[in-house]
Amino acid sequence: MDVLGLTFEGVLAAVKPAKPGHVPALREAYARAFRDADAAGPFTAQTHPLARTVQGGELVKFLQRLPDGFETESVIIPMSGYRTTWKTLCVSSQIGCARGCTFCETAQLGLLRQLSAGEIVGQVVAAQRELGAALRNIVFMGMGEPFDNFDNVIQAVRVLCDPAGLSFAKGHIAISTVGRIDGIRRLAALGWRRINLAVSLNAPNDEIRSQIMPINRTDPMPALREALAEYPLRKCQFIMIEYVLIPGVNDAREHALELAEYLRPIKCCVNVIPYNPRLDSPYEAANDEAARRFMTWVNDAGQFCKRRVTKGRDYMAACGQLGNRAFARRLTQTATTSPSGWPAIGIPLIAAPR
Ligand code: SF4
Repeated sequence: MDVLGLTFEGVLAAVKPAKPGHVPALREAYARAFRDADAAGPFTAQTHPLARTVQGGELVKFLQRLPDGFETESVIIPMSGYRTTWKTLCVSSQIGCARGCTFCETAQLGLLRQLSAGEIVGQVVAAQRELGAALRNIVFMGMGEPFDNFDNVIQAVRVLCDPAGLSFAKGHIAISTVGRIDGIRRLAALGWRRINLAVSLNAPNDEIRSQIMPINRTDPMPALREALAEYPLRKCQFIMIEYVLIPGVNDAREHALELAEYLRPIKCCVNVIPYNPRLDSPYEAANDEAARRFMTWVNDAGQFCKRRVTKGRDYMAACGQLGNRAFARRLTQTATTSPSGWPAIGIPLIAAPR
């Protein structure tokens, strides 16, 4: 049995052991399946062939080719703090994305398909077991909007946190949303107080946000702020507000002041991310000086703000840059003209970019 998408409880429900005395051995076999690709026993946790890795220093972007020809995309990011280093894995929850944010590479694919819970967990297992990464944190910031695949994402978190298996702490997992209000409320209703929530805001007002993020037309900023203000947080916990700084769009001093004012009722930290241009981007890259200036304005206005270090800019592995163009091209080509040598697969879009 492949246990990638199953908690140990789920496994027991499926296996129905004849005697309670069989449970410890099953538990050991369940844990072993995640650790050892060649584990003998009743369970496996099978990842898929690593189709490609791109490395820049310690940064590793990897793809797994799924049996139906689609590819997951994930990035292992080395992090460092005071006298300590660790690795964070950025996982995808969908292949492509329907949300159509104008600055985002993934949006160019449209939504191709949802990932199952097992395919999400499989990215973690591949990073740890096949690529040897000692992961501390997992962030749902790769391809896709996690709340557009809510049930599978939540099941994946359950599997990741199962003490019988991978045993990640919820406090080391962050789910990043485009700002889907019903998703934020559903996550809050689960009562998982330790899991971290990040919101891609990227604008100080509805006018700018609606231009760059179509979600804002259905989930506008005042309603989003209400949901965030009501989101239950622990004493030492903050909502992470992601702010991709785009030159000439959202980087002026009045934008910083308006942003700080908007966020006043929310316990949050703003992460400023200098824009990483996607391929054929209509926007330019933000430079360090612009980021520093913007952060100073926001901090001076009383809103805690820091900079997210951008890694992997040269490797299409940085924030907003996941989305495999070569794969997208293959979708529209015939087998004989495919430059990759892989057979083309006529996979329809579930939803085109909005
Ligand atoms: S930024 Fe996130 S939500 Fe927006 S299109 Fe890209 S992957 Fe989807």
